[in-house]
Amino acid sequence: MLQVHCPVCKKSFLWTDDMPVQDKCPGMDCEGNYDIHSALKQNIDRHSPDVVKNILLCPSCSEEISSRFTLCRHCGQVVLGAQFFRKSYFFMAVCIFLIGLSFVFRYLV
Ligand SMILES: [Zn+2]
Ligand SMILES: [Zn+2]
Repeated sequence: MLQVHCPVCKKSFLWTDDMPVQDKCPGMDCEGNYDIHSALKQNIDRHSPDVVKNILLCPSCSEEISSRFTLCRHCGQVVLGAQFFRKSYFFMAVCIFLIGLSFVFRYLV
């Protein structure tokens, strides 16, 4: 038995050995088709610890991110290592830093 998620209606159902490998979703009013091979692959991907280890996750929304210093494309937060900032806070911090810098230059020059 295997739990299969229909890609169309997002409902899950139990697939048994006597059912065809590819067939129409048993969900009512659903035109989707399930495919046991891709469902199996998804299950393996989800449970493999090696895959999880190599994926960087956003500390804010736990979605996959491309690097440790990036702008998360899922939630829009600025990710810095294990920390994250709201974009507006980040720009405010940059502005304050620049204003501070301009003060320093004014008094030094
Ligand atoms: Zn379905
Ligand atoms: Zn995120």
